[in-house]
Amino acid sequence: MTRRSELKTCIIGAGMSGLVMGIRLQAAGKSFRILEKATSVGGTWRENTYPGLSCDVPSFFYAYSFEPNLDWSHRFSPGREICEYFVRIAEKYDLLKYISFGETVAGARYEDGRWTIDTSGGEQIRADVLIDATGPLHIKYYPDIEGIDSFEGAMFHSADWDHSVELRGKRIGVIGNGSTGVQMMAPLSEKASHLTMFQRTAQWVFPVGNKAYSERERAWTRRLPILGRLTREFYKWIFNQGSVGVVRDGYWRRSMDKGCRKHLATVTDPELRRKLTPDYQPGCKRLILSNDFYPALQKEHVELVTEGIERIEPRGILTKDGRLHELDVLVLATGFQAHKWGIDRVVGADGLSLDEAWQKGPRTYRSVTMPGFPNFFMLVGPNSPIGNISIIDVSETQSKYILDCIELLDREPGKALTPKREAAEAFQESLREAMKNTVWVTGCNSWYLDPDGIPTIWPWPANRFQQLMQRPDFSDFDLIDAT
Ligand code: NAP
Repeated sequence: MTRRSELKTCIIGAGMSGLVMGIRLQAAGKSFRILEKATSVGGTWRENTYPGLSCDVPSFFYAYSFEPNLDWSHRFSPGREICEYFVRIAEKYDLLKYISFGETVAGARYEDGRWTIDTSGGEQIRADVLIDATGPLHIKYYPDIEGIDSFEGAMFHSADWDHSVELRGKRIGVIGNGSTGVQMMAPLSEKASHLTMFQRTAQWVFPVGNKAYSERERAWTRRLPILGRLTREFYKWIFNQGSVGVVRDGYWRRSMDKGCRKHLATVTDPELRRKLTPDYQPGCKRLILSNDFYPALQKEHVELVTEGIERIEPRGILTKDGRLHELDVLVLATGFQAHKWGIDRVVGADGLSLDEAWQKGPRTYRSVTMPGFPNFFMLVGPNSPIGNISIIDVSETQSKYILDCIELLDREPGKALTPKREAAEAFQESLREAMKNTVWVTGCNSWYLDPDGIPTIWPWPANRFQQLMQRPDFSDFDLIDAT
């Protein structure tokens, strides 16, 4: 039997962005509920548990500005530590009581001025405002390789790690060499009897060490929180300058280029170095930060295979050169469907689903709203600066922007907010223009690109994002009757 409930605001997802939205709504005294498909908070940091997982944004910068963590273990702390941070935040802010766990959203549609949200648990929720906080790197991508289901060993996606599988002494294969595949190579190489990485496209790798903070350093930071804040500001500055700087010609881009090439030169075997040399510019695909990948690849029992995959067989992977690579364990580090945003079916006021409206790629107004989808907001939506600034900073800014919109709706009962089509088109046009001279469109295939080959990330500096998102420009919106 369908259970029915009424809500003011419904958030989908209790990951890092859904949590900060909850914190803001709670502080503003708004009524809301968070639907979470899993049984705990943390989003991507809950789901990804593969060996070697860490975040390539320095930890002091990968925390809410209002909730610094003064006890990170590493410059780039392990995923488990990051997940624990979000669990602590959810508990500290008493957010758990607002979260319905185990509730997957089957679909949502705008009808009669409100959102109807159907959950897989058989609940039908009516809400004024719907906030999608499901994130872009969420729906796993499984490669369409012939025979994949015939493999007789253990096989799993990197975001669905099967910890019951013993790795020690096993022949392990990894398909994919994005940030995920690269991070797991060093720890896997310590356990596998033979480790094979199957690479389709070479990646540029920038060497960055992952310093462990000593007990003494951690004690000082706990005693003097200003040290943590200064470290955060330092990394924020570096990140905001560097990650935007590398997008166009100039000092940062040259430094990245030089750093990557110098690092590649540390690979001593010329044949391996050739295989690892990309045929596109550094930064075109998301840059990989690692200083343990090349050393791992150069171990005796580790192999990089660049011949294409013909098919998967019960005993392993057959490559196009006719060689069968026998495996006990196969890891699919093949990434995510980055352009399948959020929940499966969100249908707006015109009867069009997001998928239909975005057939030629996502089109938003400032990443958070969409014409034709009244009172619908996205956190870390298309064209958010996910490749440039800390996604935590992005979520804080966007959640404040969304709260401002909700405040307006509270002052205007019976109304719904939707961005004007001209405003969304102007935003898209400025994005298209700004993308022209970026490194992302210099000829590589990456998850940044939409079906039209246009990057769905942020081409401008961080301060432009902060300026544009400081508060909503309501002249770019229509307030329509929500009836
Ligand atoms: P990804 O960057 O999309 O990489 C997927 C890999 O799988 C690519 O190497 C791709 O090859 C390969 N692949 C896909 N289908 C294949 C097929 N049919 N045959 C052979 N190879 C195939 O995914 P990811 O490594 O999971 O990373 C995704 C994003 O997650 C990152 O860019 C980053 O934003 C985030 N992430 C961040 C961190 C962090 O430290 N913050 C860590 C992990 C992930 P092609 O290159 O040829 O397409």
